Amino acid sequence: MAKSEKPLIVMKFGGTSVGSAERMQNVAELVKEHSRRAEIAVVVSAMGGVTDMLIRAATEASRGDREQWKSVRQEIARRHREVADRTLSASEQAVVLPRLAEQVGNFENLCSGFSLVREVTPRAMDTLSSLGEVMSSTLLAAILRSQGVPAEAVDATELIVTDDKFGNATPLFEETNQKMRARLASLRRRGEIPVITGFRGATLDGHCTTLGRGGSDYSGTLVGAALDADEVWIWTDVDGVMTADPRLVPTAHIIPEISYREAIELSFFGAKVLHPKTIQPVIKRKIPVWIKNTFNPSCPGTKIGPSAANGKPGVKAITSVSKTQLITLTGRGNLTFASLATKAFAALGAEEVDTLMVTQSSADNVLCFAIRDSDLKCVKTHLEKVFELELLHDNRASIEVMPHVAIVVTIGENMKGTPGIAGRSFSALGRKGINIIAIAQGSSEISISFAVKTSDVKEAVQAIHDEFQL
Ligand code: ADP
Ligand code: ASP
Ligand code: MG
Repeated sequence: MAKSEKPLIVMKFGGTSVGSAERMQNVAELVKEHSRRAEIAVVVSAMGGVTDMLIRAATEASRGDREQWKSVRQEIARRHREVADRTLSASEQAVVLPRLAEQVGNFENLCSGFSLVREVTPRAMDTLSSLGEVMSSTLLAAILRSQGVPAEAVDATELIVTDDKFGNATPLFEETNQKMRARLASLRRRGEIPVITGFRGATLDGHCTTLGRGGSDYSGTLVGAALDADEVWIWTDVDGVMTADPRLVPTAHIIPEISYREAIELSFFGAKVLHPKTIQPVIKRKIPVWIKNTFNPSCPGTKIGPSAANGKPGVKAITSVSKTQLITLTGRGNLTFASLATKAFAALGAEEVDTLMVTQSSADNVLCFAIRDSDLKCVKTHLEKVFELELLHDNRASIEVMPHVAIVVTIGENMKGTPGIAGRSFSALGRKGINIIAIAQGSSEISISFAVKTSDVKEAVQAIHDEFQL
């Protein structure tokens, strides 16, 4: 459909930003203000803490515990009801309260089913864990209407088409783009703001899926790409992308501009401010993504674009992934390094496991890689299967696991060609007495990774941050 005169901005609001009646009201005011100058589409997360509560309730219910999910039911009903009471006109309450009650009813039916059969399937978990988004979008759309802004809550199961990998689904872009444009066309023509549920999508045959924890950022850029938006704004609780996680490094500060590649690396290596797949949908159309703070909206935030203008040489940011394990595979006898690596990566690939860092020594026939704690069981089982014969016969292969490892990563497109970064990082860690277990640098030189003990991670990130005076 033809684009309107005004620029189109997709605004995604995270859980903290919609965590209470006041916060939701504040978000509605931001949307109202910007809707004077731009056409807005909103994507919203569940109220802060709600997704965790839903998942916990489902897990407990599937163990046969009836108490836990009943108390979550009360808490969820109370929190959403309180927002409705405090923000909505009587006529809007008449529309919204029955819808909220319906979602609480869905929660109850699902949990009671889980506790009866003592099981929760990944498919049912997705329907349940994303109910928070259905409730928050219903409320936010109604608050906007109460403030005189035409808006309608839209369930992303009607917009985002995915495969059936429940819990971590992958969007089908063509189908999503078509469906999204068709479904939102009439709303846009009428000048109504769609308030879309983040996090959820649906398979081609209509089963609800989710895009992985923190996936509403990804929903935001999927909407932005499908509608060919001019910009995507991700509103959160910090001023932008910072030089390090502010919870680890209190002196971290905001980076005004970073490139898509830098943002992808940062989010892949644990910077929670962005879901790791967020940038993917906007690359082709070069849509800028802004990170902004709902608690400090006058701060411009961070612009993420195809390339970062006037990037300083050297390190731009530091990030870390704490809960990882280092796997060391050693081949002996006639087991060549090539077949050791081929078998190992085939095993990881089959399960779509992320390897966070890889080092090797072909001469010693040793391959070492880091994976997340949560992937250990699956990786070990697969490795033991593919190397079954080698493990049995003459010890031709061995698998060692080192737990409690963290990966610290320095990131910056302009590290390329800046000598001495690895050396300075080594020295900074050495001065603090931090032992480096392994190091890896890609030939693209956009990131350098160091494996350290988990107990050293905070000090390591701080030491490198200080060294490069970020
Ligand atoms: P939302 O609920 O809005 O999606 P998240 O909690 O998912 O927000 O992400 C924002 C949080 O990401 C911040 O509060 C901050 O603690 C954390 N974070 C980690 N690394 C960084 C970083 N490099 N820059 C900014 N925030 C970061
Ligand atoms: N509510 C979901 C979660 O907590 C998605 C999101 O907030 O991005 O993971
Ligand atoms: Mg998030």
